[in-house]
Amino acid sequence: MSLERRTTKQKEAIRAVLATQEGPLMPDEIHAMALKAVPSLGIATVYRSLKTLQDEGMVRCVEIPGQSPRYERSDKGHHHHFLCQKCHTVFDLEKCVEGIKKLVPPGFRITDHEIILHGLCKSCV
Ligand SMILES: [Zn+2]
Ligand SMILES: [Zn+2]
Repeated sequence: MSLERRTTKQKEAIRAVLATQEGPLMPDEIHAMALKAVPSLGIATVYRSLKTLQDEGMVRCVEIPGQSPRYERSDKGHHHHFLCQKCHTVFDLEKCVEGIKKLVPPGFRITDHEIILHGLCKSCV
């Protein structure tokens, strides 16, 4: 197999993993799942492919303070995250919060916001 075809196959396996997930994943989680499709996949390749996919705008990095970076596909639209304190899984939250503008003093302009809810997921409650 040519190098280019192999790279494409590895990237596709990583994209396929991210496409089916309910929340952002750490590189080692992506690696474990993508191994089923590409058994020869190395963790260094996962990091490299994530970087490329990020550069191409297909994948986005999700940073949660005190946690290793996670990755999700970038076509999900505006959403937020829930971190389970017990199993450390991060789940996507479909909705945003209304009235965010009311939080800032008059004359301030919000350009971006990030909301991370902490708690216990359904399986950990
Ligand atoms: Zn949990
Ligand atoms: Zn929002």
